[in-house]
Formats: sequence, structure tokens, C-alpha cells
Amino acid sequence: MKPPPFDYLAPSTLDEALALRAEHADDSLVLAGGQSAMPLLNLRMALPAAVIDLGRIPELAGIREYDGGVAFGAMTRQRDAERSQLVQERLPLATQALAHVGHTTIRNRGTIGGTMAHADPAAELPAVALLLDGELVARSTRGERTIAAGDFFVGVLTTALEPDELLVEVRLRGLPGQVGTAFLEVARRHGDFAVVAAGAAVALAADGTIADARLAFTGVGATPIRAHDAEAILRGAQPGDDVFAEAAARAAADLEPGSDAHATAAYRRRIADVLARRALKEATP
Ligand SMILES: Cc1cc2nc3c(=O)[nH]c(=O)nc-3n(C[C@H](O)[C@H](O)[C@H](O)COP(=O)(O)OP(=O)(O)OC[C@H]3O[C@@H](n4cnc5c(N)ncnc54)[C@H](O)[C@@H]3O)c2cc1C
Repeated sequence: MKPPPFDYLAPSTLDEALALRAEHADDSLVLAGGQSAMPLLNLRMALPAAVIDLGRIPELAGIREYDGGVAFGAMTRQRDAERSQLVQERLPLATQALAHVGHTTIRNRGTIGGTMAHADPAAELPAVALLLDGELVARSTRGERTIAAGDFFVGVLTTALEPDELLVEVRLRGLPGQVGTAFLEVARRHGDFAVVAAGAAVALAADGTIADARLAFTGVGATPIRAHDAEAILRGAQPGDDVFAEAAARAAADLEPGSDAHATAAYRRRIADVLARRALKEATP
């Protein structure tokens, strides 16, 4: 199928893009890497009067150091993020998760901002943003605001972005101290969206106990899910199989996954338990 006719708008500056977004707030689709937007158009699931292509705005792409972490311009290609040495050093969890995002050809086009704004419940990077308490910077002609990842992902393909806003930057910081991370996934085939994925970060205190632990899932709800109760079990504990099993079981019990053509709810819960246990163990430095 081909998309219905639309006005193709290709601004070359962010200000121009924001003005177009404001002008067409009620009836436009933003085009970033197009890896989800083009299928939405071709399948006529989106019928916008105007498509605003962000691909010609150099100021929207780039990776920079930010307050001990990393800031990604929204149009940064996922493949560039995956290959970035700064990201590998500061955000190994992001590098680990990026390897699971589709195939290399998709990551060559797909953007960091696109995967956040699209908010697919099975996408990997939103779970990383949630786990790391990331910040998403939205801008419109009305101004700029920073949205915590915990508030950004609202539902299936739904975010806190207003119709006249663009996502312009994604800011992520790793945990301080002696930290390890792991991102594990079950998918039908390599490159498919996750049936379930689990990301973990474990920071150890000087005495070897767990100073901080983070656990998040994708594929088990309408949004990425952070396992706060499981994290509380881990903080202050001595790392080991028993406490990892207890935390993973708690996290899995708290989930309310759905059933679909890919997996039943019971299967997803079981996989979440197993992946969480393994991810926590693998993440422990
Ligand atoms: C075969 C295939 C397999 C895939 N597998 C995976 C996978 O395993 N895991 C995964 O996470 N993803 C997967 N993807 C999705 C892909 O990796 C992209 O991350 C995703 O499509 C969104 O990025 P994009 O830059 O292509 O955005 P687009 O497709 O251009 O846009 C997606 C949506 O976000 C909106 N948007 C984009 N940028 C902005 C912005 N800056 N401000 C406001 N709104 C914006 C668009 O309007 C649109 O609604 C797969 C895609 C394909 C085609």
C-alpha cells in the first residue's frame, strides 16, 4: 500500500521545524528515521495532512558529554550511538540494548529520538531511559521543558509530548561507583522486537553490598516497566543467587503482561523472571 497524499515539509533549522509543528499541530506527522513512521503511513494507520521531515536539521543530531552522562540529539542515528566510544564508556547499558534494536540497517536510519517518541512497548531504549532516570527535552514555539522518563512514556505509542512539541534531546546518566550492567532479551528471531527484555544495573558499595540496583523490562506492558519493589529488595543486600532470585520473582509477580499472537501473559511473566535473574547476576561487577 502507498500513503495517501500529504504535504512534505523539510525544514533546515530547528526554529523552522518548530514553527511548522505549531502551524500543523493538529494534523502533522514528524519524520525522523522513518523506520516506524513510513510503515504507519504506508499502512494508512497515520493519515496526516503534512509530514515534517527532521532529516535536514544538523543541529538536531550529535552525541555530547552532559553532566557526567551523555546527551543525544534527537536525530542521532542509533548506529552512531551504538558505535560511540563515549556511550560505551558512560552508558554501557545503552550499547548493550542497542545491539538488540532491529538489524544494523534499521539502526543506520532509526534515531534515538524516534524510538523514544514512537514509544513502542517492546522497544529497548525506552526501558534504558526509564532504568537510568533519563530526561527527555521537548521544545515548541512556547518554550522548552524537560520530562523525566518516568513521566514520558504514557501508553502504547503514546508519550507526554504535546502535538506542537518536538523531542530535541535525550539525556542519560549511568550510576556512579563500581557498576555493572546487562541487557538480555528473548525475541522470536534475531532483530525482531522483544517478546520480553530485561535491563539491569548493579552498583556495589566498598563493603561489597549492593549500593544501588536498577531493573526494567520491555514487552510486558503498555510502557516500559521499572521494578521498584525488586530494586528495594536488592539495595543493601549482599549480591548472590538467592537475593537475585527473590528480586526477580518479586518483579515478575508485580507485572501485568498481556497475551498476544507472540506470547501468552504467563509465558511473558516466566521469561521476565528468568531474564531478570540472569541480568542481575551478569550485571554484578
Ligand atoms: C523491521 C524492523 C525491526 C525493528 N525492530 C526494532 C526492535 O527490535 N527494537 C526497537 O526498539 N525498534 C525496532 N524497530 C524500530 C526502529 O528501530 C526505530 O527505532 C523506530 O522506528 C523509531 O525511530 P525512527 O527514527 O525511525 O522514527 P520514525 O519512524 O521516523 O518516527 C517514529 C514516531 O516518532 C515520532 N517522532 C520521531 N522523532 C520525533 C521527534 N524528534 N519529536 C517528536 N516526534 C518524533 C514520529 O512522528 C513517529 O510517530 C524496528 C523497525 C523495523 C522496520
